[in-house]
Amino acid sequence: MNKFEEMGVDPIIVRGLNDLGYENPMPVQDLSIPILLNGNRDLLALAQTGTGKTAAFGIPILQNVDVSKRDTQALILSPTRELCMQIAGDLADYSKYKKGLNVLAVYGGSSIDTQIRGLKRGAHVVVATPGRMLDLIRRKQTNFSTVQTVILDEADEMLNMGFRDELNSILAETPETKRTCLFSATMPKEIAGMAKKYMTDPEEITIGTKNKGSDDVSHEYYMVSNKDRYKALKRIADMNPNIYGIVFCRTRNNTQEVAELLIQDGYSADSLHGDLSQAQRDYVMQKFRRKNLKMLVATDVAARGIDVSDLSHIINYELPDDPETYIHRSGRTGRAGKKGVSVALVGPRKRHSIKNIENKLGKQFSRANIPTGKQVCEKQLFYLIDRVTNVDINEELIGGYLPDLYKKLENLDRESVIKHFVSLEFNRFLDYYQDASDILSPEDNGRDHSGRNQNHASKPGDVRLFINLGKMDKLTVPGLIGLINDATRRKNIPIGKIDLLKNFSFFEVNEAHVDLLITSFKKVHFKGRKVNIEVSDKAPSYNQRPSRRGAHGGGKPSGGGRASYGGGRSSGGNGRPSNSSGSRPSRRRSI
Ligand code: AMP
Repeated sequence: MNKFEEMGVDPIIVRGLNDLGYENPMPVQDLSIPILLNGNRDLLALAQTGTGKTAAFGIPILQNVDVSKRDTQALILSPTRELCMQIAGDLADYSKYKKGLNVLAVYGGSSIDTQIRGLKRGAHVVVATPGRMLDLIRRKQTNFSTVQTVILDEADEMLNMGFRDELNSILAETPETKRTCLFSATMPKEIAGMAKKYMTDPEEITIGTKNKGSDDVSHEYYMVSNKDRYKALKRIADMNPNIYGIVFCRTRNNTQEVAELLIQDGYSADSLHGDLSQAQRDYVMQKFRRKNLKMLVATDVAARGIDVSDLSHIINYELPDDPETYIHRSGRTGRAGKKGVSVALVGPRKRHSIKNIENKLGKQFSRANIPTGKQVCEKQLFYLIDRVTNVDINEELIGGYLPDLYKKLENLDRESVIKHFVSLEFNRFLDYYQDASDILSPEDNGRDHSGRNQNHASKPGDVRLFINLGKMDKLTVPGLIGLINDATRRKNIPIGKIDLLKNFSFFEVNEAHVDLLITSFKKVHFKGRKVNIEVSDKAPSYNQRPSRRGAHGGGKPSGGGRASYGGGRSSGGNGRPSNSSGSRPSRRRSI
């Protein structure tokens, strides 16, 4: 008898659990399964995401379903479509040997007719997002009079997302006699209020400490000036060649911008935010789940309900105002017994935030230094060698080619072959990092670099300006130069480096011309849109991205949309390598 069976879990469900490799219950399951299999008391469970909550409520629900009836016997409400699908999928897996048991997922952004048909066929367990559930109730497509158990999963998130009214209306449809279970990662006043309103004398269980972070997550922070933030992110990614994580930004614009810069610099990254359509979000999430994306740049709202259990890193590109949000973010790593790191890039004015978070978290951050170029190179070099050492060799496949290969390499001795292979893969890193200066903390720099002429333009005295037009507006480099010439009444201001991105762009000018430019653009419109120019305090993507030819075959770098105009200056890009496993798969090679 395994531990689940000892707790009274039906062997038919234990078989499903075994197929998933669940041999022993996780702590939240240890506590809640006996409660939910016996008696009828409500349950208030304080448990972080990733602690095994789904099985904690799912197993007893599935066990209690009477498949001889078609009635809906349990209703699970969860904040997001992603989580809803995840829960329904997990429940189907646990109960795959319990014949005739139907679990139905009901969520927005998907055909309501199909869901109505599913309800009509008879769903023993309905897993729903509140918005779509209410819609179906209003269309009179549900009968919840037979519901025995209601689960409010990630209740704090549902409240954060403004689902209070929906929850009230949905719960009003369920019988008074039902059992209600509320799972929440945090216990703000609102949740305590909700528990009071919907539950009678609930059993309370707490997994870990209230509002505390997981023990499997270590917390690090780096002090960076705003201008260095992006560069620091890249170094952290380069220093962790196996990175698989979420980069959190505060706003949709920043999310988009950081993702675009990363993509432009050859990293495997994409963005997830509220401006994307559901189909776009699904596509990005699918890539991320399959690990075709190494870094997902996301807002807090968009990242809700993402359930990926083996993230190596959470990167707080910008710290949230609320420490609870940090705890939520960092709780997305260190799941299911795996270790994770939560990294915070802390600007000069946000130092105090670390203390606040430490207090809430009950854990200390360790302060780390941004890796030097040399450290990154060493790391990448050894990573490369490890991959060479550990690669699977398919003797059968390559055996036939080997005699010819040996012949081709016969003029190179062992040392030279190693040098050649390593240089082939590694020169790009060396090129980028050999002249890269260290990224110092603002204290070490002795000043805050957010000032106008310190916004890291590529040439001393130049200032990097942001313009709210990009390739989506069909802006081209000559088009931008023309626009500037028109706006400034042909003063022929020399323009330095230009970075055209999807939704916006950057260009550099001497600081002497900044005021004139900003004033000249005050009333300029482009294709009906008001043009906005600002001094950028974002780190530019300094580095010229090599074209595929450049990266692979020694062809000329494409320039990645960068150009140099006016005054005949060169672009000043210093040749960014496409990098390691943080880079797009198409540019990665193994030797
Ligand atoms: P959850 O909090 O339900 O999202 O679960 C977090 C992760 O733990 C998921 O990847 C589950 O598949 C995994 N998990 C849940 N229960 C067990 C168990 N008893 N043994 C092993 N893994 C589990």
